[in-house]
Amino acid sequence: MKNPFETEEQRAFRDSFAKFVDTEIRPFADEWDEAGAIPWELHRKAGALGMFGFGIDEAYGGLGFDDCFMRAAVAEELGRCGATGVGAALGARNISTGPIALLGSEELKRRVLPQILSGEVGSSLGITEPSGGSDVANLQTTARQDGNEWVLNGNKTFITGGMTSRYFIIGARTGGPGIAGISLFFVEADTPGFTRTPLERKMGWWCSDQATLFFDDCRLPADSLIGPENKGFIAIMNNFNYERLALIAQSLGMARTCLSESIAYANERKTFGKRLVEHQVIAHKIADMSARIDSLEAYLNQICWMANEGPTPVAEISKAKFLSTKILEYCASEAMQVFGGAGYLRGNPVERIYREVKVMAIGGGSEEIMKDLAVRQMGVVH
Ligand SMILES: Cc1cc2nc3c(=O)[nH]c(=O)nc-3n(C[C@H](O)[C@H](O)[C@H](O)COP(=O)(O)OP(=O)(O)OC[C@H]3O[C@@H](n4cnc5c(N)ncnc54)[C@H](O)[C@@H]3O)c2cc1C
Repeated sequence: MKNPFETEEQRAFRDSFAKFVDTEIRPFADEWDEAGAIPWELHRKAGALGMFGFGIDEAYGGLGFDDCFMRAAVAEELGRCGATGVGAALGARNISTGPIALLGSEELKRRVLPQILSGEVGSSLGITEPSGGSDVANLQTTARQDGNEWVLNGNKTFITGGMTSRYFIIGARTGGPGIAGISLFFVEADTPGFTRTPLERKMGWWCSDQATLFFDDCRLPADSLIGPENKGFIAIMNNFNYERLALIAQSLGMARTCLSESIAYANERKTFGKRLVEHQVIAHKIADMSARIDSLEAYLNQICWMANEGPTPVAEISKAKFLSTKILEYCASEAMQVFGGAGYLRGNPVERIYREVKVMAIGGGSEEIMKDLAVRQMGVVH
């Protein structure tokens, strides 16, 4: 559908990023997924295109402007190539650069942001713990002040980029229980007391790494505290909005691929003497997928416009997050049915998308938690 808000500049950006995905990612996605990693050179290439620089000043290597349509275009095109693990491997840094850019000291921003945004090094955000990820207000990792240092103790898990990142933003408890006792810290991978182990044998996202991080009396300099003490919860919540926007757009891209692959296969495959698409039940699957995709696309465009105009439409982002993954789940399942047995084989893009539906529905705020947040934001529940 035509996006009524789109400017020429946004269209040109989308086209050039789509070309990058088509030439630099799509042909190699299967190979990288099977190998369990992407080449580091891809981080640098994506960095050179500006993929990591939205909302960050040029003085720190950023683009010097923000635009939600462009952010969404990047995520959607990565989703459309059907290998969301590549998007996760590249984009892990995007959920950690926001707190650095917004809350970090001038010295920190000048030292680390150019390295991260150029793709030279990776950075990750560590919020989820083995005891849970949904209940952020109850996180257990602690940071206590000792003289001129902070001492960090606890574990984080499921951290994307955790094995490869040099820099981390970590949520830790510095005060009492609940939301008023949480702060954010900047941690470097070579800090004594910091160790990590990979999470292996995952359902999807094979070419991106997830890790469990261990902080064992990890001593951090005083200026590792990012932003005001005990005010980290609100920073974490604000940071989630762009992550969720990207997940919505990525789900849209994945759903589009389910549709386009289904149309192509249904036109070529014959059963009972005619093409699959000539069986009304199959044609209806295509109509149903397409209608859902169009509605999600229109919703996402409206949200991008609202976010660009401000303030951030938190209720709409929460609703679109769970709606997008339900639409993706539907499209992935129906596309598998269109393919029949062929969809069950490794190497078929629909097979991988089907396996990667659930990480979209759980990561960055699960469907259940998004519904809770939506009704609170709508003022229905307090
Ligand atoms: C591949 C992958 C990558 C990830 N990357 C990162 C990362 O980079 N950084 C990071 O910090 N985290 C990351 N996560 C963690 C992710 O954000 C969490 O998995 C998610 O927030 C859910 O937390 P949990 O898995 O601990 O589930 P839990 O919080 O234990 O919840 C379990 C289930 O119960 C439901 N539930 C929980 N509470 C309620 C309630 N009150 N009412 C109804 N239902 C409820 C949840 O929706 C969920 O379905 C990643 C996860 C995955 C799978």
